[in-house]
Amino acid sequence: SGFGALVANYARVLGLTREAGQVVGARIRDEETGGQRDIRANVVVNATGVWVGDLQMASKRVRLRPTKGIHVLVPQSRTGVRNAITLPTKDRRIVFVLPWGDLSLIGTTDTNYSGDRDRVEVDREDIDYLLEAVNAGFPGARLFREDVVSAYAGLRPLIDTGQARESDISRKHKILTDPDGLISVAGGKLTTARSMAEAILRRVETVTLARAYRRASVEASEKAAIYRTALTKGSPLFWSGDSKAIELAAARPVESNGDLAAAARRGAKYEMAIHLDDVFVRRTGLFYELADQGARFAPTVVDAMGAEMGWDAERRASELERFRRILGANRRWREAGREG
Ligand SMILES: Cc1cc2nc3c(=O)[nH]c(=O)nc-3n(C[C@H](O)[C@H](O)[C@H](O)COP(=O)(O)OP(=O)(O)OC[C@H]3O[C@@H](n4cnc5c(N)ncnc54)[C@H](O)[C@@H]3O)c2cc1C
Repeated sequence: SGFGALVANYARVLGLTREAGQVVGARIRDEETGGQRDIRANVVVNATGVWVGDLQMASKRVRLRPTKGIHVLVPQSRTGVRNAITLPTKDRRIVFVLPWGDLSLIGTTDTNYSGDRDRVEVDREDIDYLLEAVNAGFPGARLFREDVVSAYAGLRPLIDTGQARESDISRKHKILTDPDGLISVAGGKLTTARSMAEAILRRVETVTLARAYRRASVEASEKAAIYRTALTKGSPLFWSGDSKAIELAAARPVESNGDLAAAARRGAKYEMAIHLDDVFVRRTGLFYELADQGARFAPTVVDAMGAEMGWDAERRASELERFRRILGANRRWREAGREG
């Protein structure tokens, strides 16, 4: 946003708007208020991960083969691992063990997934697979499910390359320009994000130029312009950027109430945190680093965020309830473990 972008979170694209067969914008729903609005754009880039096909024309949908992967965190004292290492698995893959403060981060699994993309959860089998690989490599670790501090699951937005085995599917990305001008990106990795972004911007320029030339009325000087998406200013969801936020973000919170309250206030004020789980899961990572996933600090965070956001008692209660639901979904594998 320091370069002039307007960023919106909790803003769902319900669908794209098309005129004369060309994408000219999107219908957005503010997930906080339920309000909808249309925004217009000269070019729309669709970078929606495993949901990428949902916004494309039906006839042009890219065929994805999402695979599920999980990570687990266990106490570092159990693995003794101080550097990043890889271990072989029984199915000829590798898993890695990475240092993560007092914890070790172990990942990943790679399995076909055809379930609900909005509700990806960890299974006992996933956990056992990773623990087995570590126990085989470090017999002294003797890791059991009970030793898992936290676990989380995600989907890789891989392009279907017709491979039988999940881990043989290419991790390469594709940038597609559909006949309606929509630019979509599929596949890829975090490590290739920078080069993907650069290639997408080159594609944006091509589409913008082509459209500018097509319109007879445009001024010559406008032809090379890349127009920014005109989101309406003034909504609390839109963040204008603030150099102070960068300064404050440098101080990483530690596990103490005071620091956590400061992190929560900072999240609400400068980092577009809207809900309790934004602070625990996506701004601090405490959700995965604490054995109770931060549950004991939820009242502290709700008060700090509430003071910043002006939440009343009802909103605070609903935030705590929302956090409990997310906590329950994330820990479901533990319950399943007991039954089995
Ligand atoms: C277990 C696992 C391990 C991985 N390990 C590595 C690794 O070691 N190295 C590496 O480089 N990569 C790794 N990856 C891959 C990496 O995480 C992905 O390539 C990357 O997250 C893809 O980023 P993305 O922005 O394209 O998609 P996403 O991160 O999926 O982001 C898409 C976003 O679009 C939003 N969205 C979707 N539909 C809409 C809509 N209609 N309106 C508004 N928003 C919408 C979603 O909410 C989401 O936030 C791993 C992935 C997994 C699952």
